[in-house]
Amino acid sequence: MNCNVCNCIIQPDKYKMKCPGCIPRGRGCVHRKGLCEALRKGTIRFCHECDDFPYDNLTLLENRYNKSYKYSFIKNLEYIKEHGMDAFLEAEKIRFTCSQCGKRVSVHEKKCHFCGKKY
Ligand SMILES: [Zn+2]
Repeated sequence: MNCNVCNCIIQPDKYKMKCPGCIPRGRGCVHRKGLCEALRKGTIRFCHECDDFPYDNLTLLENRYNKSYKYSFIKNLEYIKEHGMDAFLEAEKIRFTCSQCGKRVSVHEKKCHFCGKKY
């Protein structure tokens, strides 16, 4: 998950959750509810580095986000694996910038929080 496109970051006034993201919380990539030993111990940083990728919990989250937000954790991780984090963040910046006002659009909303343009 790119935290930059989360409602908690874009609308901190609306969402009281003060979430700094999985990695700053020491949980690694997608933290798998603390069940992934490799992420917990820091043996791997991202789920795609594991032989079990994509594991069951990620697939459940993947299906929910695919359906609700047209967002794919698996595709994101495959993109990071192939092109690196900087390229991923640049692609996300382009994808989630409002074409009308230039501000960041949330993955969780169907319209821009700032100008109301629908997506
Ligand atoms: Zn906008």
